[in-house]
Amino acid sequence: MEKIYRTYEDTEVSSIAVNVECPYCKEEWQESDPVCGESYNLICEDGCGKEFKMYFDAS
Ligand SMILES: [Zn+2]
Repeated sequence: MEKIYRTYEDTEVSSIAVNVECPYCKEEWQESDPVCGESYNLICEDGCGKEFKMYFDAS
């Protein structure tokens, strides 16, 4: 499974949403309310349909 790493620098200023880019097909979308230090299994629902893991951390 591919992995990507996101930080607070990748979040929108006005809301708690992280910009996600699929590591397979580069489809972009936002996930809301990420929790620092958590990892998420995401599915590229609007793109290739593949699953990947996102790590979200503060730094
Ligand atoms: Zn994709």
